[in-house]
Formats: sequence, structure tokens, C-alpha cells
Amino acid sequence: MKFVDAHVHLSDIEYSDCLDEIIVDAKESNVAALVSNSMDLKTSIDTLKLVEEYPGLVYAALGIHPWNVQTLKDEELMKTKELIEQHTGDKSMIAIGEIGLDFKYMSIWDKQLAVFTEMLQLAEKLGLPAIIHSRGTTVQIVDMLSSYKVRRILLHWFSNPISALSKAIEKGYYITEGAPTIYSNGIRDVVRRVPLTNLLTETDGPVRFFKAPFNGARTTPAFIPAIVKAMAEVKGMTAIDVAEQISRNFEDFFEVKLNL
Ligand SMILES: [Zn+2]
Repeated sequence: MKFVDAHVHLSDIEYSDCLDEIIVDAKESNVAALVSNSMDLKTSIDTLKLVEEYPGLVYAALGIHPWNVQTLKDEELMKTKELIEQHTGDKSMIAIGEIGLDFKYMSIWDKQLAVFTEMLQLAEKLGLPAIIHSRGTTVQIVDMLSSYKVRRILLHWFSNPISALSKAIEKGYYITEGAPTIYSNGIRDVVRRVPLTNLLTETDGPVRFFKAPFNGARTTPAFIPAIVKAMAEVKGMTAIDVAEQISRNFEDFFEVKLNL
């Protein structure tokens, strides 16, 4: 049984002292593919290095995260866009991400909107899928996306509201869920409602989860088998069947062939 982590941040500073170990653990846990999402120009450059270091295992999604908009300079935005254009068509550069809108950063709302719009336009122009952060902004984002012809959409860590989830499913968007599937009834309800053919697994590592069984441990891709087990419980299926379908979803969404 093979697994995938469709949303992780391997270029995060928290992993810098232990990345080889994280990769070994991921492989030992049968994780066959990792999509490392960048947050800004620096992590985009670092992510491209990781893709070269771990070919066939690590894939890159490049973009500007809404949290990083705060300190973003025009030149950095321009260089990030150039970098994405240059690497479009590379076998391992497979999406624009992580991009989106976050209601917790209202003081920079206009700038968030402007940058998100630029990223969506770029995804549209380059024919790349987009991986989207939508904390507290799902309704607005699902509405906004109707104005863009982005190749495919992945809403990462979707939590609510269910009305926006129904619309997203109708439009054929994909949803990733991670560790909260194990302890959160709300996320289990989302997993229950999303057709298995639109579902993917993620860790969003190195984010920390403070509920049991995680208790604040740094998240790594080795958590994925436990997440698949929880999804299988929710779906009333075997973990093998769920893992196989999720790997197929990964191949369909990112248009790659995995070493399964
Ligand atoms: Zn993330």
C-alpha cells in the first residue's frame, strides 16, 4: 500500500535540520510522493532544490502564501512569477501553491486579494492546477474561482461551511484533509461528504496539532498512513482501497505517474 502527501512545506525552516531523516521516514512509511508547497520567493527557490535532490519523490508547488503577503515587495512578486514561468513544463513542478486568502489577516486584505488574483491569473495562463488556502474565506474563494479558468483546483484543509463544500464538489474541485481527520468531527464530516474520487491526503507539515494522538509533535509525512486509516473508517472502506484511490486521484490531479 502506497501513500501520498499532497500538501507539505518541506522548505520550512522547522525541517532544515532534519530533512534527510524526514525523507527516510516518509519512504519507510510508503509515502510515494510529496508535494512541497512554497510560501514566497525564498521557499520557492529552496523547493526547486529539493525537487532536484529527491527526484521522483518530491514535487514542487510554487506561489505566494497569504501570510507572506504582509512583507511582500513588488520585486519579489515579480521574481516569483518569473521563476514559476521558467519552471512551467518541468516534470516535477506541478502546481501553483500555496496561494489564497486568510480572514485573520484583514489588515492586509486588499494586498491579499491583489496577490491572490495575480496568482490565479498566472495559473490560468500557464495551465497549472492551484492549491488554495481558504481559512474563513471559502465562500468568497469558491465564488471568485468562477471567474478564472484554472486547470484544476485543490482546496487544502477545507473545514466549512458545508454550503461552499457542496458548490466546490459540484465544480469538480479536489479537497485535501490531514491529521484533523483523526480527531475532529467537523473534518470527518467533510471527508464523509467529499466523493472519494475528489479526496487527497495531506499533512501541511511542519504544522503542529495539539490534540491527541499528536500532542504538539512536529507533523511529518510519516503521519499519512494514520490519516488514510481514519479516512477509511469514515468511508466504511478498507485502508488499501482508500489509499489506492487517493494515489489515482493524485495522478489525475497533478498529471503525473507515480512509482507505485
Ligand atoms: Zn500549507
